[in-house]
Amino acid sequence: MGLYDKFSRLAAERTHFQDSGASPFGTRIDAVYSPTEGRIGDKDVILAGTNNYLGLTFDAQAIEAAQQALAAEGTGTTGSRMANGSYGGHTALEAELAAFLDRPSVMVFSTGYVANLGIIGSLAGPREVVLLDADCHASIYDACALGGAQIIRFQHNDAKDLERRMLRLGAQAKDALIIVEGIYSMLGDTAPLKEIVDIKRRLGGYLLVDEAHSFGVMGPNGRGLSEALGVEADVDIILGTFSKSLAAIGGFAAGRSGMEVLRYASRPYIFTASPSPSVVASVRSALRAIATRPELRECLWSNAHRLYDGLASLGYALGPHVSPVVPVMVGTKEQGLGFWRALIDQGVYVNLVLPPATPAGVTLVRCSVSAAHTPQQIDQIIQAFSVLRPLAELAG
Ligand code: PMP
Repeated sequence: MGLYDKFSRLAAERTHFQDSGASPFGTRIDAVYSPTEGRIGDKDVILAGTNNYLGLTFDAQAIEAAQQALAAEGTGTTGSRMANGSYGGHTALEAELAAFLDRPSVMVFSTGYVANLGIIGSLAGPREVVLLDADCHASIYDACALGGAQIIRFQHNDAKDLERRMLRLGAQAKDALIIVEGIYSMLGDTAPLKEIVDIKRRLGGYLLVDEAHSFGVMGPNGRGLSEALGVEADVDIILGTFSKSLAAIGGFAAGRSGMEVLRYASRPYIFTASPSPSVVASVRSALRAIATRPELRECLWSNAHRLYDGLASLGYALGPHVSPVVPVMVGTKEQGLGFWRALIDQGVYVNLVLPPATPAGVTLVRCSVSAAHTPQQIDQIIQAFSVLRPLAELAG
């Protein structure tokens, strides 16, 4: 048996999709004009599948800060912080995130995926139990596999199911690690953190919240769902990424001072190159924007409401709540692919998400809204969905 033979079914499916038109896997965006506009082939499109929630990828101050760092410190660190040392920017960014989140300790990682591997994979070893929401991101599952922890999945957003499983654990529950997300990346819904915190207060355990999609997006100060629901003091570790509202690449974990020991114990922290100076500089600038420009969040939510209400009034089946992530259910894989391509023809680029990456095996086109979208652009997106409504009826 050849090395790649086990992928033959997957390869055939991909080839089939590719042969029948534009491919949703590795779509090439041929030009990027702004946070919300680009070109695919010869088609200008509104970018509505980016996670660029605050639209800061073209922020003038962030670009200038990155350019200065690039000129001053070069293109890359060419190694890990353990081996090559930390640059001033790494420690400054950690201090600024710690101050922003009001936490004693912050560790910066090279991506959000690596942050999950580095924290969960190190804390949850074979003797630990992890209770995780069934819809958690792949990086969380992979982190549990890396650490070898015992995994118990509870039903998505079902605090009662979590409680039942905690009770079944008996005395072990008080040391278990509970993992949920702020905003879930596919359905745009949020974790029932108040109920979960109540369970944790009664039965024990540690709580880790991956705020990848909610950092900068929720809470009076943009600190995420934990802040929005007033439960920050009960959350032991906040995880986040730089690849969404912070508009770059990298990740972080914020926790109590005991977390510092992971700098010497976490392999995904130790054995990979640290973020480039320009990335660190743009993230520091974007963090300042989150802290000082609440109007970005207001704009984001106003756009999210506009898109959600517009699509709902067309009769589309959407996610359960208004959110910057707006999933639209579109039928089978084939129908979803046709719908996604037709949207590009209409000048709108979104994400096509196929099972098994979706919850409950549905096919969805996933829109993500940005503060940088103008109301007119949101209306253009709604108009494209309106033109394609008959196609979705077929799919429905
Ligand atoms: N956690 C969650 C919940 C995510 O959705 C993602 C990425 N979409 C990640 C972690 C990984 O983040 P990154 O892209 O920075 O690796």
